[in-house]
Amino acid sequence: EVARPKNFIEQKIDSDLENNVVTTVHTRFPPEPNGFLHIGHAKSICLNFGLAKEYNGTCNLRFDDTNPLKETAEFVEAIKKDVKWLGFKWDELRHSSDYFEQLYLYAKELISSGLAYVDELTDDEIRQYRGNFTTPGKNSPYRDRSISENLNLFEKMKMGGFQEGKACLRAKIDMSSSFMVMRDPVLYRVRFIQHHQTKDKWCIYPMYDFTHCISDAIENISHSLCTLEFQDNRRIYDWILDNISIKSRPHQYEFSRLNLEYTLTSKRKLSDLVEERFVDGWDDPRMPTISGLRRRGYTPASIREFCSRIGVTKQENTIELNALEACIREDLNTNARRVMAVLDPVKVIIENFDDQPFFIDAKNHPNNDEMGTRKVQFSREIWIEREDFKVEANKKFKRLVLGKEVRLRNCFVIKANDVVYDEYGSIKEIICTYDPNTLGQDPLDGRKVKGVIHWVSSTNAISAQFRVYEKLFNHKNPAQVEDFRTELNLKSLETFNGFVENSVKENDIEERYQFERKGYFTQDNKDFSKEFLIFNQIVGLRETNK
Ligand code: ATP
Ligand code: MG
Ligand code: MG
Repeated sequence: EVARPKNFIEQKIDSDLENNVVTTVHTRFPPEPNGFLHIGHAKSICLNFGLAKEYNGTCNLRFDDTNPLKETAEFVEAIKKDVKWLGFKWDELRHSSDYFEQLYLYAKELISSGLAYVDELTDDEIRQYRGNFTTPGKNSPYRDRSISENLNLFEKMKMGGFQEGKACLRAKIDMSSSFMVMRDPVLYRVRFIQHHQTKDKWCIYPMYDFTHCISDAIENISHSLCTLEFQDNRRIYDWILDNISIKSRPHQYEFSRLNLEYTLTSKRKLSDLVEERFVDGWDDPRMPTISGLRRRGYTPASIREFCSRIGVTKQENTIELNALEACIREDLNTNARRVMAVLDPVKVIIENFDDQPFFIDAKNHPNNDEMGTRKVQFSREIWIEREDFKVEANKKFKRLVLGKEVRLRNCFVIKANDVVYDEYGSIKEIICTYDPNTLGQDPLDGRKVKGVIHWVSSTNAISAQFRVYEKLFNHKNPAQVEDFRTELNLKSLETFNGFVENSVKENDIEERYQFERKGYFTQDNKDFSKEFLIFNQIVGLRETNK
């Protein structure tokens, strides 16, 4: 592992350990199960689980499930799968809803200390009374009820005695605070919705600010890490913990969220893409979700490497898409075996080859002999890429041209002598001859053949569909445009029907390949066909700035 400077959180942990502020490091990753995890969550996962590992501590996976309206058990399962796939193991699996009873008792403690009250203003009125950055808020007329009245009314809320929106519990703090979050934040509201964990047990649900700090304390979290937009919420985090009898005293630290060029990192917006069927589900290979990246063919190691390279700071910035792609490209350049596939095929007939097809040994990796060789069949009829042939071309075109020679990768030199057109005027066949003395060596008479093209034998190649992806959005910051739908890249998926060499047949579906000259590919993990294999392009061979 490359040594890197410690980030500000590690520095804080070091000093906390040194000063005996904490003795062990306990972190948690707290997703709300209202969607699938995305690449932004990967940053938080790598940070929280990474710190636990680095400091020999623990990290819990905690479902922050206090808003049953948008949460489902399906999302819970998908999140667990993604965290595991990324290579992390949680110490304990928890739900904020595990703590509903305790949270309720702490709420009663606040009421009993005169620090919370039941408000009967409507949501709109609460908003109006709150004021804004330039205007202080006004006290609710219900703010000064007695402790016993508040206890009774809170009990009534819990028993279903108030309709939704007719009552809520609020902290009694300061309606003129310069921090809006401190203007008597709502702690509990009434919701007659079934919860995926607690079913119909509760009709009052605690709010994020009340739940998060107490859940952290219950779990003995030492360093509670969240993104910068929660900076102000740290005030309420501290206020609640300072005013209840809980012993453990966690602290919150904020880091900047991951923003990625051309990418949405908001579950809500990603959910819109899924619901409105712009993509084929949460795991569409164009989605920045963990499951989408997995289906696309990213490795867990490449995502962890990306998170390590971007680091953890308090500066808001946007990372280039190339930074993510570079991580998988480097991984696959080293680890993916080379294979030949023709995405858009045109037939080549080698007139002077009348023998039976035979097999040639081809290296699986140009710079790593340990990866071995494979058998590639050569036959009278082969497929080459349509774009690799031209009837006429200048010297820059280093592929097959009528009347000229080119080398078939791992194989002989061939020469194009004639072209057969179909009834629509497009090329049907290219008639060639091969030089039998060029296998593994240059032509004997010393003539130079510059170009090399890939090919597959038409007698034993496998039919395959190739799905080639581009970024999902044309705009560098789709979250910033009024309607991200207007910025969808209509060419984000292009499908080709071609052939891949037979050697991929023996492999695991998860195997990743470099299709020479075409990029890195893996089989789709969801779509199968009896007639042909289906491959996703993971990433191109080189950085594109399209
Ligand atoms: P979204 O807006 O996509 O729903 P969220 O923050 O509401 O994101 P949570 O499920 O609450 O999603 O997030 C779980 C954890 O992941 C939180 O600690 C959150 O701060 C972190 N997280 C979410 N998005 C990012 C991001 N883009 N970069 C870094 N961390 C993130
Ligand atoms: Mg959240
Ligand atoms: Mg959210």
